[in-house]
Amino acid sequence: RVRWFQVPPQGKGALYLRPLLIGSGAILGLAPAPEYTFMIYAAPVGTYFKEGMAAINLLVEEEIHRAMPGGTGGVKTISNYAPVLKAQMDARSKGFADVLYLDSVHKRYVEEASSCNLFVVKGGAVATPATAGTILPGVTRRSIIELARDSGYQVEERLVSIDDLISADEVFCTGTAVGVTPVSTITYQGTRYEFRTGEDTLSKKLYTTLTSIQMGLAEDKKGWTVAVD
Ligand SMILES: *Cc1c(COP(=O)(O)O)cnc(C)c1O
Repeated sequence: RVRWFQVPPQGKGALYLRPLLIGSGAILGLAPAPEYTFMIYAAPVGTYFKEGMAAINLLVEEEIHRAMPGGTGGVKTISNYAPVLKAQMDARSKGFADVLYLDSVHKRYVEEASSCNLFVVKGGAVATPATAGTILPGVTRRSIIELARDSGYQVEERLVSIDDLISADEVFCTGTAVGVTPVSTITYQGTRYEFRTGEDTLSKKLYTTLTSIQMGLAEDKKGWTVAVD
């Protein structure tokens, strides 16, 4: 008799699937690998930030950049993470959950955090930085843009300046690991800016809509879910 286990148990986190592609051929020189190994590892996970689903505090980083025009910022590659570990560790030691990066040319436009995309809400309008090679075009970002538009919001993919950010009503982050995480404060040049969080926010509404589709609690009209049997 077969006993089936659900990993993790229903309602206790998720099974995170991470595809990995590494060069594994016999080569020492600087050149594309002659052979690659593709793996997928599966691990049960809880929430990504230690804050859980609670709102997070972010620090705007002005000196260190995670990506630059012509670089690899738009691809999920290890080369985008090593350069930001120091900024991230410094921010964490000061109590921030993560760092928010600015564009490396003007240091004026917001890009994203170390592992998630960013949205700002002002009035009935939603904006997220346009992806043009320096921002990871996340699938959660894409899904949230669609769900927000479906529920009547105007969503713009455009340049989001630091002024747009600090004057926003609401700010939130998106990613497979972080889900939809509300941002309660952003610190920029020593000043802390506060944003709306809690039940009556767009991020909460979109979080509920997305996770209900993911967990099969709401009808999936978009064909985003796949049954595994
Ligand atoms: C993974 C990641 C995201 C989110 O992408 P998803 O496809 O939604 O998981 C955003 N930004 C960065 C830098 C990332 O590494």
